[in-house]
Amino acid sequence: MTTEECIGLAKKYLMNTYSQAPIVLLKGNGARVWDEEGKEYLDFAAGIAVNNLGHAHPKVVEAIRKQAGVLMHVSNLYYIDMQIRFGRMLVENSFAGKVFFCNSGAEANEAAIKLARKYGRDRMGGKFGIITMENAFHGRTLATLAATGQKKYQEGFEPLPDGFRQVPFNDTASLEKAVDAGTCAVMLEPIQGVGGVIVPGEDYLKEVRELCTRKGILMILDEVQTGMGRTGRLFAHQLYGVVPDIMTLAKGIGGGFPLGAMLAADDVASAFGPGSHASTFGGNPLAMAASAATLRTMLDEKIPERAAEIGMYFFEKLVELRGKHAGIGEIRGKGLMLGMELGEKAPACVAACREKGLLIDSTTRSLRFVPPLIVTRDEVNRAADIIDEVLNIL
Ligand SMILES: *Cc1c(COP(=O)(O)O)cnc(C)c1O
Repeated sequence: MTTEECIGLAKKYLMNTYSQAPIVLLKGNGARVWDEEGKEYLDFAAGIAVNNLGHAHPKVVEAIRKQAGVLMHVSNLYYIDMQIRFGRMLVENSFAGKVFFCNSGAEANEAAIKLARKYGRDRMGGKFGIITMENAFHGRTLATLAATGQKKYQEGFEPLPDGFRQVPFNDTASLEKAVDAGTCAVMLEPIQGVGGVIVPGEDYLKEVRELCTRKGILMILDEVQTGMGRTGRLFAHQLYGVVPDIMTLAKGIGGGFPLGAMLAADDVASAFGPGSHASTFGGNPLAMAASAATLRTMLDEKIPERAAEIGMYFFEKLVELRGKHAGIGEIRGKGLMLGMELGEKAPACVAACREKGLLIDSTTRSLRFVPPLIVTRDEVNRAADIIDEVLNIL
């Protein structure tokens, strides 16, 4: 099929929920992808912070190939060997005592919200209020939309579930004021992703942790985007020296295979019992094999450390660009989760970069860079050169 034929058929058969760029990607390897016309791109969007090990990583491919021929799916009515193995690995490499598996970020956040409510019901005398942040993003299901709290995502889908209210991000005083007798949890991203790569002050998460502990409420961290090495540590909360009560993961966890996970300290996790929550596909052997190979590779090859180092290099490149071009605002981020303020030019810049063979995306008025964590300095140089060329003509 030609690109034009693909686009025609997509418009005919697929629900119109995305505004898609006019290319059809057919193949990937490392940090590069190729479209239907054979054109090569540097993929600095990485499936929206998903392909942390790049495309077609041999260890992940091999694990999926092998597991697919042995056992792809059985239900959670029975113990699943691969789920126990990967669950143990994830727990042993995190603060958590227990993990629940699902299939996406929104589902992981739904699970976190349900666990916090159940804990509030059983152990906090029925509290169910959850405070979230303005400009947050937690997913597209009804409850996670309510948590997201942004009108543009909510409009047309009301009424939304009750029990959520938002306060400004990076503002401990407002948060403290909002916590009341009905609050059971605070839920936030360590660094806001979809909201434009917004990095809080160095002490903010510590202050939130201290507040949650003092008030006896749960701290839920949505690490769907920041987790799995993206920010230079396996989990972003490790950058800030805090430990949450509940954490959600998805995006990069499966090396491109869909998986979501909700982790909690043992005491919190114990609010769930048989029948409390479930997912037919959650933790299925194939997803577990892909994710175990991904995490094993991350740890063996010190991928988070690599993300920190190359992220610093990329950050400096972006600062250099700011020195050369007018109109670049703040440059933000940690590790390989970086944003560059560009105002109204951001969408045009994304399109022009694509023409020149670089895939990035933009959030509100910023460019967002979330390349595979295995990206090389040469590839970063090439990306910076393309952005440089584009800013010359914009
Ligand atoms: C992408 C994202 C989600 C939603 O994940 P899905 O897999 O699309 O449901 C939730 N929270 C954050 C922080 C995200 O970046």
